[in-house]
This record gives sequence, C-alpha cells and structure tokens, in this order.
Amino acid sequence: MGKLNCPCGNQLSDVCQPNTIEGHLITCMEHDGMEEIIDSLDIVTDSRGVWECHECGRLAFDYPDKGDSTVKWYVPEDKKPGRLMERDK
Ligand SMILES: [Zn+2]
Repeated sequence: MGKLNCPCGNQLSDVCQPNTIEGHLITCMEHDGMEEIIDSLDIVTDSRGVWECHECGRLAFDYPDKGDSTVKWYVPEDKKPGRLMERDK
C-alpha cells in the first residue's frame, strides 16, 4: 500500500520501524494449508493485508480482489487502538 489516509485524518505509512501498523489476515481455509504457504513464502500474496491506525484504532483491510487498490475500514467498538501488530505489548 505505501501510504493510506485514515478517515480520522491520520496518515498511515508502512515505512515506520518497527512496522507496527501493517499485518496480514489469514483465513481458516488459508491456515489449513499454512505449512505449504510458509514453505513457498507466498504468505504475503496469499493473505489479506490489514493496517491499523494508531490514532483511532480503525483497521483497513484489502478487498478480496487483489487488483482493487481500495480498502474496507472497520472501527473498534471502544474507539481505541488495539495495537494488534505489536509483539510483547
Ligand atoms: Zn485513524
């Protein structure tokens, strides 16, 4: 994606280090073949990208159509960032 403008006004960028904004959603169907996905290192292309806004907690998911550059936003019920991509929080 590169950069993404959140509806709250914050701009998300995947160049931050460490990258705690970007992750991947893996469905159960994809998880069933996970060993093969990891072996082939196609995890990025075989999963759906998701970005989290650190200001409002919105999640932006890639649409299933990988040719579509738009995203679908989801807002957390408590309006707080879940920091879902951070490890050891
Ligand atoms: Zn936001």
